[in-house]
Amino acid sequence: MELKVIADAAGAPGGGCASSGCGAGGDKLAHLPEAIRAKINNHPCFSEDAHHHYARMHVAVAPACNIQCHYCNRKYDCSNESRPGVVSEVLTPEQAVKKVIAVAAAIPQMTVLGIAGPGDPLANPQRTLETFRQLSENAPDIKLCVSTNGLALPGLVDEICKHNIEHVTITINCVDPDVGAKIYPWIFWNNRRVTGRKAAEILIEQQQKGLEMLVARGVLVKVNSVLIPGVNAEHLKEVSRVVKAKGAFLHNVMPLIAEPEHGTFYGMMGQRGPTNEELSALQDACAGDMAMMRHCRQCRADAVGMLGEDRGDEFTLDKIAEQDVDYAAAMARRAEVHAAIEASRTAQRRQSSETFVSIAALTRRRPARPEPRPVLMAVATMGGGVINQHFGHAREFLVYEASTNDVRFIGHRKVDLYCSGDETCGDGESVLAKTIRVLDGCEVVLCSRIGYEPWGQLEAAGIVPNGEHAMEPIEDAVAAVYREMDEAGLLDRPDGAMHRMSA
Ligand code: SF4
Repeated sequence: MELKVIADAAGAPGGGCASSGCGAGGDKLAHLPEAIRAKINNHPCFSEDAHHHYARMHVAVAPACNIQCHYCNRKYDCSNESRPGVVSEVLTPEQAVKKVIAVAAAIPQMTVLGIAGPGDPLANPQRTLETFRQLSENAPDIKLCVSTNGLALPGLVDEICKHNIEHVTITINCVDPDVGAKIYPWIFWNNRRVTGRKAAEILIEQQQKGLEMLVARGVLVKVNSVLIPGVNAEHLKEVSRVVKAKGAFLHNVMPLIAEPEHGTFYGMMGQRGPTNEELSALQDACAGDMAMMRHCRQCRADAVGMLGEDRGDEFTLDKIAEQDVDYAAAMARRAEVHAAIEASRTAQRRQSSETFVSIAALTRRRPARPEPRPVLMAVATMGGGVINQHFGHAREFLVYEASTNDVRFIGHRKVDLYCSGDETCGDGESVLAKTIRVLDGCEVVLCSRIGYEPWGQLEAAGIVPNGEHAMEPIEDAVAAVYREMDEAGLLDRPDGAMHRMSA
């Protein structure tokens, strides 16, 4: 059996990662019409491969919300789509458009503008739709997206379609009102507050109706679900089944983030979030033949840049106030940059097919030995789909699972910055210990470079640092290391016991 990620990538005309965890895996999307491939090819949230190459931004124009979720405190970002953290500025539509133009000119790989809060965008329809209207007129090369809890969605589907919005995210945490009553204390519906099971019933009905209406109009719908252990964990398999049957394009199961300091009900009540293993297992269980999203970063409602980074501070209103961007010129420059990115992706796919190594061939050469076990590997990358980051400069690691069937993206793990390149290095031990804990379960960490001290501590913890594959495409490198481990006889063991490899 071949490693799908490499074999399929070479032959996938619409591009995109072919790993099974990918939002746009070539094998999984081969059945899609070219028009849909075109919609997701440079969308960092709808395509796992695209997120290595393209950036997104959110503008925070929607302060109000029409429901209450137990995981949300609107002093912070909307939990539908964000990690905790206050929105720095709520913008008017005009300010938002100015900011988008400034970012698009400065970060030409930014292809997607989303409105995701800090409240619910469709609970603020005038502000949200006016922003989209101005952007579709003034910046036609930017894809427009909206995220919503779905309560007001059915009434606004036609308006959404008028503004050429091709991607919508609905947060659906349940399809059973009894489960919903444990997540939503109230909704605001027809000018009054509705509580308990009835509130969840109305919300679920509106979400499902909105999903059906969007799908009928050809809009790509991503469904976000927050995994809340003990509340909806098992139930999300049913959610996945239902939304898939109704035509949702992608399902994104995200971990609950609940800390007492966020001031949310769940945070205060000590409701825990899922472990990495619980999240991964549930994503696998929901996957079936539906595309699952595993690269979502639960971004702030005012996030700017590549997924996993936030450059919002560079584009505050005071910093862009005096800017007068020639958007026609910016658009030409953006088109050049996008063409260069696509050329680079094509070259990467070609290289992948040339360097592809069939694990099946390896297993054929080892008939007397047991089936090799899968291995988790952590990768430090700054983007571009290659291993190009120093271990000590990583703020997150991408985690891949290599097996005889596949190289698949599992998710990301955030870490504190270990090394800022100056005198703080001496204080790095505790940060490093935390990083090693975060990388629990990974047997290899691939990075462009790594210092002597972290190298030793990683090895002592049973994680092999590997800097030999710097600047190589990630999946190729993971496949190559897996093959090396197999050749060294390290994959026969049932667990990930410490092993030594050249690195
Ligand atoms: S929150 Fe998830 S879906 Fe939204 S921009 Fe970030 S990665 Fe994309």
